[in-house]
Amino acid sequence: MTSPSTVVQETPYLVIDVRIAADRYRRLADSFGDTAIYYAVKANPEPSVIRTLVALGSSFDVASPAEIELCLASGAQPQNLSYGNTIKKSADIAFAYARGVRMFAFDSEAELTKLAEHAPGAQVFCRLLVETVNAQWPLGSKFGCSTEMAVELLTQARELGLDPIGVSFHVGSQQLDPAQWAPSVARAAGVFARLRDQGIELTLLNVGGGFPVGYAEPVTPIEDFAKAIQSSADEHFGARLPRIIVEPGRYVAAESGVLRTQVVLVSRKSHDDEKRWVYLDVGRFGGLAETEGEAIRYRISTAHDDAPAGPVILAGPTCDSVDILYQNTPYLLPLGLQPGDLVEIQGTGAYTATYSSAAFNGFPPLATICIGDS
Ligand SMILES: *Cc1c(COP(=O)(O)O)cnc(C)c1O
Repeated sequence: MTSPSTVVQETPYLVIDVRIAADRYRRLADSFGDTAIYYAVKANPEPSVIRTLVALGSSFDVASPAEIELCLASGAQPQNLSYGNTIKKSADIAFAYARGVRMFAFDSEAELTKLAEHAPGAQVFCRLLVETVNAQWPLGSKFGCSTEMAVELLTQARELGLDPIGVSFHVGSQQLDPAQWAPSVARAAGVFARLRDQGIELTLLNVGGGFPVGYAEPVTPIEDFAKAIQSSADEHFGARLPRIIVEPGRYVAAESGVLRTQVVLVSRKSHDDEKRWVYLDVGRFGGLAETEGEAIRYRISTAHDDAPAGPVILAGPTCDSVDILYQNTPYLLPLGLQPGDLVEIQGTGAYTATYSSAAFNGFPPLATICIGDS
């Protein structure tokens, strides 16, 4: 880690150590063996992160023309891109196809029709709607369709001249429980069996992302997730094991980032207020969107962490009352904390900088500095 004095930049800013993202990628690749890795670009689209992952052999899960351009400009090959967003404009599908992308997700008949028209002959996979219990950032009910519908649509894909290759699902982001993949793998195996009955041999099982990061508390090691997924695939597919791919975002990017911010104000609402309010120069609108519902609880450190500490409510600098980071989650910060003191928010490499608003209340978007880029 660089020391604060080696970077000259006004707070708030995010420091991304590309070497850490590379290290997490390698650990994931080692754990998953032959499984291909499609890094979910939305987690952190810094060009130096993408370039580093290209060099390590990563493929990419992309969701828009800009993410496609970014990956191609960073040296990725179009055949290593998967357009995983199930909600695409026709023009964006045509754009991707013209750039050589041939792998697309869908979860509805209307999307399949668009793909048939604008990406003729492309490989398509159907996203299944699955449970997202035990995920700290659940993806809920927005994506995927029922097993029944997936069977129909994959059959229809063939009739439309597309190449139906398999199914995908996502068990929710920051998914803490390795056992959560098994029910979805079982469901996917059911779709494979039904398609085989119709003479269509699916070959791809995309088990999505979701792999967790130890923010404030440690999490189950990635190796255990790899083992759980592999053994459920063995159980449900037997000798007919499909090609498995994973789409990590958070796991690769989160720990590479430290957000440097400073204290703007420390105050109490009354003389006998037990908790101090600590207002930082970054908040919900400055990139910390995942503190919504206090879902993601970052580790926070200061230069005085050995000093006596007391309970605080942490909030951002804007004039919106939702701009509170943690009110219910207990956080302790040094009693001597003053305006101007530097505060570091750890594990902020994923889902932060791109979430920051353009200019709410006149605050600029979160700046990113990359270090360790070779
Ligand atoms: C966001 C996303 C991912 C990455 O999820 P993480 O929880 O960050 O690993 C993977 N696949 C798809 C389709 C996504 O939209």
